[in-house]
Amino acid sequence: MDLIRTEQKREMGELMKGFVDKTLDFYEAIKDREVARDMDEAALARLRSRGIPAQGRPVREVFEEMERDVYANQSLVQHPRCFACVPSPVSLFSWMGDIMTNAYDPHAGSFLNAPGAGCVEQELIRWMCGLAGYPEHAGGLFVSGGSMANLTALTAARDAKLTYAEREDAVAYVSDQTHSSVAKGLLIIGFRPDQVRSIPSDSAFRMRTDQLEAAIREDLAAGRKPFAVIATAGTTNTGSIDPLEEIASICEAYGLWMHVDGAYGASILVSKTRRSLLKGIERSHSLSWDAHKWLMQTYGCSAVLVRDPQSLARSFAVHPEYLKDVSAGENVNFWDLGPELTRPARALKLWITLQIMGSDAMSEVIDHGCELAETAEEAIRRLPGWEIVSPAGQAIVNFRCAPAGMSESARDELNQRISREISAGGFAQVLTTELNGRKVLRICALNPAATREDMLKTVSLLDRCARKAIGRRSA
Ligand SMILES: *Cc1c(COP(=O)(O)O)cnc(C)c1O
Repeated sequence: MDLIRTEQKREMGELMKGFVDKTLDFYEAIKDREVARDMDEAALARLRSRGIPAQGRPVREVFEEMERDVYANQSLVQHPRCFACVPSPVSLFSWMGDIMTNAYDPHAGSFLNAPGAGCVEQELIRWMCGLAGYPEHAGGLFVSGGSMANLTALTAARDAKLTYAEREDAVAYVSDQTHSSVAKGLLIIGFRPDQVRSIPSDSAFRMRTDQLEAAIREDLAAGRKPFAVIATAGTTNTGSIDPLEEIASICEAYGLWMHVDGAYGASILVSKTRRSLLKGIERSHSLSWDAHKWLMQTYGCSAVLVRDPQSLARSFAVHPEYLKDVSAGENVNFWDLGPELTRPARALKLWITLQIMGSDAMSEVIDHGCELAETAEEAIRRLPGWEIVSPAGQAIVNFRCAPAGMSESARDELNQRISREISAGGFAQVLTTELNGRKVLRICALNPAATREDMLKTVSLLDRCARKAIGRRSA
């Protein structure tokens, strides 16, 4: 069958060449665009009524429809002034890697299918394990995101620590700041909600290790089977880092698996000036690390690292003979280390980015984010009527407009309104979260293209939004 006619091929080629130029222009001028946009309902209606045609449509028509109705219809998480959730400060080199990798489509499940890709992913894993302080023979693999990384590591923890019979009484420990994907992963791999114990955090949103140890003792006394503690290196709410050394000591004393969820914060390991913040991480058994957050990758790029790669093979290799290769630290078949068989070579773009930028520049990216959040904190502290709820740490700061004489619930509403107001304006996006039961504003500043000026303008805009909202309230 001749499925692509010559003139279609020519047209596609022209469109794609132009697309590369257009994309570069788009990123060049991204700061002039609005961060958040309203949903384009008309575009969605067009897409819903489209259906799959029995007869194909012209290349250009489909291309232009995608540009207009799909790609233009999204919030710009890669905008330098997107300070919402965890923004996605994508590098153009990651985009280049996406295009190249997707074009050649290597099958990265087994080494033989794509040795070049397998080698690159293995080398990246080795580099990341080295930064974490794991031993030479450590390993891991790239998965689609932090949620999958957590699920993969927790499966290894379950199988390393529990017999089938013991699963029934097993207990895993998280904190009240642990990302929801951890409990979700534990539920998916067969634990009941009451087997996931939430330990309170302290005033700095770090897991309370005295409470952790008390809970472990209590569970042991009741005949239950503690098996894993999930520490977080950079919580999503505040960037807080659990006391890793203390948690490691507890895990060692009680024979528990220590998993570190570093989906957000493990990238700190790349910072030459700040990596010591994660001291103790080298004592963990496993670590999740999202490259699609702070290492500037497009989505679908996250690593799960383990001190002992056999622990992944034990859970995921379907052929026991592969265990030998894995323990020998030779060429790994990634399908033996995780849930996927066919998998894309999702880390080649990270390799390309790091090869071109160099790790020193990536170190500066991390430091820049931390400094931007510090800039925000300083500026907010100077504003009357505002308070810092959680100081700048790991590029996140939480704060609140709290005018005197206003009730707490009215303050909650006010901050929600400020968030809506600033986001609707399009200049910057700032969303809320909840801390200590109160609504707070949260800035997460990862984008190296955001400047100190951008941050200062954003803070004064927040203050302007607050005054407007307060004025409307009293009018
Ligand atoms: C973002 C995040 C996750 C989830 O990662 P995804 O890549 O969104 O699946 C897990 N843990 C923490 C701490 C995170 O910040």
